[in-house]
Amino acid sequence: MTVAAAKIWLKDGREKSLRRKHPWVFSGSIQRVDDAPAPGATVEIVASTGEFLALAAFSPESQIRARVWTFDRNEHIDAAWFRTRLARAIESRRKLGMLDPSGACRLVFAESDGLPGLIVDRYGDYLVCQFLSAGADAWRTVIVDSLLGLCSPRGVFERSEGGARHKEGLASERRTLTGDPPPAELEIEANGVRQVVDIAGGQKTGAYLDQQRNRWRVAAYASGAEMLDAFAYTGGFSFACLHRGAARAALIDSSADALRLAERDAVRNGVADRCRFVVASVGDELRRLKESGQRYDLVVLDPPKFVHSAEQINAGSRGYKDINRVGLQLVREGGVLATFSCSGHVDAALFQKIVAGAALDSGRTAQILERLSQPP
Ligand code: SAH
Repeated sequence: MTVAAAKIWLKDGREKSLRRKHPWVFSGSIQRVDDAPAPGATVEIVASTGEFLALAAFSPESQIRARVWTFDRNEHIDAAWFRTRLARAIESRRKLGMLDPSGACRLVFAESDGLPGLIVDRYGDYLVCQFLSAGADAWRTVIVDSLLGLCSPRGVFERSEGGARHKEGLASERRTLTGDPPPAELEIEANGVRQVVDIAGGQKTGAYLDQQRNRWRVAAYASGAEMLDAFAYTGGFSFACLHRGAARAALIDSSADALRLAERDAVRNGVADRCRFVVASVGDELRRLKESGQRYDLVVLDPPKFVHSAEQINAGSRGYKDINRVGLQLVREGGVLATFSCSGHVDAALFQKIVAGAALDSGRTAQILERLSQPP
C-alpha cells in the first residue's frame, strides 16, 4: 500500500527558491499544511497551483518548516533511498582519498550531501552521528542500519546537541547507538601527527575536522617559528606546525579539558618540551602578552562562532576586529597571522574588511598570502 504524502501548499510566488533547488521551506512561505503530518514525516511541497516541487521532511517546530529530500517526484523516500544517498556521500570521500583507516573525516555533511540535518563524522573505526532536524531524527534507525552496512564501524555514537536541534524542538542526545562505546581517548593520525579524540566528552563530535587541511597549509609557514595557537582546542595547529619544524608553540584555550588532551598529544608526538599550555580567555591573554612585549613568528586565531544570527553581525565583527588587532600586534616583522572565522553570516569579503581594518588600527602593514577555506 502506498500512503500519499501530506501536502504543504506554498503561497503564490514563494516556489521560486525551490525551483532554484534551495532545500529549505520557511514557515512564512507556507499557505496551508494538509493532514497535520508528524514531525519528520515526508511531505509533498506544492506550489499554489498544486504543481509538485519537492519531497521534504516536515519540521513543525522550526522556522525552517520543511527540508527537501528530493526535487524528483519519481523518488521514494525509504530505506533504499537513504542507503543510496549515504553510499554516494561515502563514495565521494573515497575518491578524495579521505578514507585512510587511521584518520578522520566528515562522511556526511547534511544539506551539502543531500541529507539535510544529518552529520556523520568518522574517527578511525568509529562513527559519530548528529541528527539535527526532525527529518534526520525520524529516519535515525534506517540511517544507522545503512551506515553499519556501508562502513562496518566498531561503534556508532550520537552527539545530537546544540542550537539547531533545539530549534527543531528536539532534546539533546549523547549516547552509544550501537556497537562498542568509543574509548575515552581514541587515537587518529594524519600526516604523521597523532591526535587523541574524545568522542563522548569533547566539543562537537570530538574534533574540528573542518580545519584538518588548513593546519597543514599553515604549517608550511612554520619552519623555525615561535608560534601562538590561540583558541587551540586540542592543539591541531600546533602539532602540525611543530611537526613541520616550528621551534615552540604556546597554546591558549579557555577549556582546561581541551588543553589536557593537547598535553597528552604533545607527549604522543614527542614535542612536549616545545609546548606551553595556557588555560585563559584569549582576549585577556593576548593583551597580557602584548603588554609584556612578547612577539611571535606565527599567530593562529581560530575562534568559535562569534555571529549566530544576522542581528549579531555588527557586534561579532567588532569581536573579530578586536582579536585580530591584538593578534597582528603580536606578530614579529615578517611573520604570519593565520586568522579564521566560522560564522556563516560573515562572508569572505566582510572578513577581509574586518582584518584589513584591524591591520590599519594596529599600525601594521600586511599582505594577504592565501585564502583558506573548508576542505572538500
Ligand atoms: N583551533 C582548534 C579549534 C578551535 S575551536 C583546532 O584546530 O582544533 C574554538 C576553541 O575556542 C574551543 O576549543 C573553545 O574551547 C575555545 N574558546 C572559546 N571561547 C574562548 C575564549 N574566550 N578564550 C579562549 N578560548 C576560547
